[in-house]
Amino acid sequence: MKLYKTKKSKIDNLGLYATKDIKKGTKIIEYRGKVITRKEAEENPKYDNDKAIYLFNLNKRYDLDGDFKMNTARLINHSCDPNCEVTGSGLKVWVHSIKDIKKDEEFFYDYGFCFEEDYRNYSCCCGFKNCCSYIVREGSRLRIKKRKRK
Ligand SMILES: [Zn+2]
Repeated sequence: MKLYKTKKSKIDNLGLYATKDIKKGTKIIEYRGKVITRKEAEENPKYDNDKAIYLFNLNKRYDLDGDFKMNTARLINHSCDPNCEVTGSGLKVWVHSIKDIKKDEEFFYDYGFCFEEDYRNYSCCCGFKNCCSYIVREGSRLRIKKRKRK
């Protein structure tokens, strides 16, 4: 039985949801895609800006492009309080749980965007208490809060 199902999300279009209770540290779904060299990623305009959402760095030489329909894991939404993490091992990338997840909960992971001037183009509506309103990785959020106060 698959651990996930596709369903309409409160946050954005579709999302992936747990089909049963899942323990922390469980592999949920493979993040499938095409392995490309980092050079290709740098040179191909396809990987500019928002498309980078689906691009994962595997190692010094390779990235994984997950921008394909068959990659169901791409439907997972960003949240400021994620219950999953995406990690690579060799040339494979997996989404696994970093918390215990209850049946019917939606899966989230931190898209890990760097803090850049264009962060305002990517708003976050995850609705968690700690939401900083933008899709920016955890380590950079403090900087945004500081800016807002000005
Ligand atoms: Zn948020």
